[in-house]
Amino acid sequence: MIIRSEDPDLDIPKVDILTYLFPEYEPISRDPVWIDAVNPKKSLSPADLLLWVKRLGIGLDRLGIARGDIVLIYTPNHIFVPVAYLGIVGNTRAFSAVNPIYTVNEIVHQLKNSNAKALLVHPQMVKNAIAAAEKAGLSKNRIFQFNDEYCEEVDGIHDWRVMLGSIQEAETFQWKKLNGEASVKTLATVNYSSGTTGLPKGVSVSHHNLISNVEQTIAYRYKHIDFAGGQVLKERWIGFLPLYHAYGQLYANLIATKLNVPIYIMKQFVYTDFLQHIQDFKISHLQVAPPVLVMMTKRPETSKYDLRSIQGIICGAAPLSKELQNLVAKRFKVEIFQGWGMTELTCGSIVQRKMDDRGTVGKLIPNHECKLIDDDGNEVGYDTPGEMYVRSPNVCMGYFNNEQATKDSISEDGWLKTGDVAVVNKEGFFWIVDRKKELIKVNALQVAPAELEAALIENDDVEDAAVTGIMLFNEEWPRAYVQLKAEAKDRISPKDIQDWIASRVAKHKRLVGGVMFVDEVPKLASGKIQRKVIREWAKRDISAM
Ligand code: AMP
Repeated sequence: MIIRSEDPDLDIPKVDILTYLFPEYEPISRDPVWIDAVNPKKSLSPADLLLWVKRLGIGLDRLGIARGDIVLIYTPNHIFVPVAYLGIVGNTRAFSAVNPIYTVNEIVHQLKNSNAKALLVHPQMVKNAIAAAEKAGLSKNRIFQFNDEYCEEVDGIHDWRVMLGSIQEAETFQWKKLNGEASVKTLATVNYSSGTTGLPKGVSVSHHNLISNVEQTIAYRYKHIDFAGGQVLKERWIGFLPLYHAYGQLYANLIATKLNVPIYIMKQFVYTDFLQHIQDFKISHLQVAPPVLVMMTKRPETSKYDLRSIQGIICGAAPLSKELQNLVAKRFKVEIFQGWGMTELTCGSIVQRKMDDRGTVGKLIPNHECKLIDDDGNEVGYDTPGEMYVRSPNVCMGYFNNEQATKDSISEDGWLKTGDVAVVNKEGFFWIVDRKKELIKVNALQVAPAELEAALIENDDVEDAAVTGIMLFNEEWPRAYVQLKAEAKDRISPKDIQDWIASRVAKHKRLVGGVMFVDEVPKLASGKIQRKVIREWAKRDISAM
């Protein structure tokens, strides 16, 4: 059974992202859109942004960065991140970003895997960037400091402004236009995701994918607003979602630009600052992941702030329990809409449109088809769990430079295997009931078991290892089953292994779920880890805790 979105199909423009966001027939707003939450005098309007975007386009041309090449950014959020994003994508290079808390090894992986040709780095992270670039073979003259203020040269790394075109040059600069199939086939962003199996991989998203997900989101969320008739969206957002992730990018870089929504950008998420900004700037709508809602209900500071400006909350990126959703809705008198999506779907695919207290993730957004497949490979009907396969114009082009992973995940006729198990009822409401893929989500961020297993095996005392997620205190955490080398058994403790991993990976990938020593990691004849057995072990261990 194929379930189709009940919304009318949209005719999605096949152009490049800048032509879509800045159509010739529309005046460009000079009102602030990207505003620094700490210092609101620092802001950019769409007109400012477009000027910077053009200047960056000239700069990338001069640097000799070829069309289609990847430019990586390594920075916390700030108001110029949307400039880098649209300057790179809009000038037909591809944008990729690393989590600002990544260690040198993690940056090296992404630099090498994406074959990035330039790196924009926040001044606080220059040392890490240089170390990673050296290991990955990226020349120092392709690294630039990137912040919202001019930075003095450090260790030979200059401010990104030195390579930009001038304002005069930008006035006559024209970005490369894409039409028809070129919009569908031209690489725009490469965010990282482990998909259903293995190590984190670059997800190749095209201009058309981006435009599709913006159009789909606007169509289901704002169908009551007549944008063509001149109506404007009167919302105010807060931008704390990380801009290296598809969720933050969709709202802060794309929809905010398309609809001119002011968004107060937070450089880092500090809970009390977040509350203060909501109060000060009368934020009307939030885009969040579940951990923020947990804080809103549990942290005593919450009640010290006036949050009555909040009208609506979108929550995605990880499971949201109906209890938490209903609690937040009641306490703050707001509507909360849960959504489901994946980096491979550009961002979102299934969303609630009306407040619903049943824990559903909602319905398919426009231009979507979905089928559910059971363990025997059969399509299932209503009210029966099955792995979701999705077909829609926001399904990514595949995995960057990885034909095999692409073939394993997207069928020739366009169905994306999601690794998530859902049920759907006759009215078209979906519930996510399980996750079949190897992914662990910590604080709504991806952790790939294969990455931690590869790191564990690099430890001289470890013979073999398998990693899975376990639920502790309503949160998912990575837990490792480790086979030690015979000579290490009396010497090494689980804590030694936890500490060793902690020194090598970003904080959210630490083995907070514990380490257990086992005689042997169960494997199939092919050498693959028997993941089902590992998951059973984890279940057994939770019930014993
Ligand atoms: P990412 O690519 O980082 O956005 O992660 C996508 C994955 O997060 C999905 O495949 C799901 O496993 C999980 N996820 C996202 N939204 C939800 C949700 N509302 N409920 C359950 N899992 C979700």
